[in-house]
Amino acid sequence: MKTIDIVVPCYNESQVLNILYNALEEIVQTVPDYKFTYIFVDDGSVDNTLSIIKTLAKDDDKVKYISFSRNFGKESAMYAGLLQSSGDMVLIMDSDMQNPPSMIPKMISYIEEGYDCCGGYRADRKGDGKLRTFFTNNFYKLTNKISEVNMPNGAGDFRLMTRKMVNAVLALSEVQRFSKGIFSWVGFNTKWISFENVDRAAGVSKWNFFKLFSYAIDGITAFSTFPLKIASILGFFISCFSFIYLIYIVLKTLILGVDVAGYASIITINLFIGGIIILSCGILGEYIGKIYLEVKKRPIYITAETNIEDKKEK
Ligand code: UDP
Ligand code: MG
Repeated sequence: MKTIDIVVPCYNESQVLNILYNALEEIVQTVPDYKFTYIFVDDGSVDNTLSIIKTLAKDDDKVKYISFSRNFGKESAMYAGLLQSSGDMVLIMDSDMQNPPSMIPKMISYIEEGYDCCGGYRADRKGDGKLRTFFTNNFYKLTNKISEVNMPNGAGDFRLMTRKMVNAVLALSEVQRFSKGIFSWVGFNTKWISFENVDRAAGVSKWNFFKLFSYAIDGITAFSTFPLKIASILGFFISCFSFIYLIYIVLKTLILGVDVAGYASIITINLFIGGIIILSCGILGEYIGKIYLEVKKRPIYITAETNIEDKKEK
């Protein structure tokens, strides 16, 4: 019998966990040829998420959990779930019912057909604000253009993967993780199936605009060094322009003599170049910060409690 692990990151999800559990129980009965395990990753919730998971685990052997010592973020939660998984296939899904459990049988059938991964993507962005939709669309356009990975717009982390692919994902051991990029970077055959976006079953989204914006910057810098090139290219053109301008000033002074006018142009050029230098430093800083965090090699998460016996350590 093939085994499937369902990894669910949970951060303050006490309102939805039972709804999700019941929905999963209903669905797994429709695919009796597989043995399921649910791995709930409690990402340092401050509500009673953990106690709900523990209650589920008491009555059901299928339910495994890892509880973090604090909130490490969804990326860390997904990594922990994948690391502790041992199934032939692993599914990652949100806890808020925004990733429909009803799609699971279809995803399994595609893997059986020979795909290494079957991912769900949102057919539309209903329920998201206009501003968020605008930025999200452009984020995908930009990253796909300037990086070596190709992330379909609307693709989230909701996907079923084979063991082979999960191992590849885990082999990328960076601490600063950007899973959407990692999934795409490791390659393999992926089948995309669309689903309609629905509002979360209860509770609130854990993302705000600032968090998403900084997530987008992380995504770009994790998979592309193009921003560094922008700094060099800009520097090159400004130097060329400055050199030509310098020749012009020298000639003008030689021919027409010294004049004190030109205050405005000097200030403008100074400010412009100042701006470019600060921008370039900022871009460098983003990457240096990443290097700093990587070289420290801190653990991606810290476990406070778990019921997984043969726990794998990173
Ligand atoms: N999540 C998490 N840690 C966090 C933030 C979110 O584990 O720090 C989980 C959350 O419990 C949910 C999933 O990640 O299962 C997606 O979060 P959310 O629904 O808030 O995001 P959205 O659907 O609005 O993008
Ligand atoms: Mg959600």
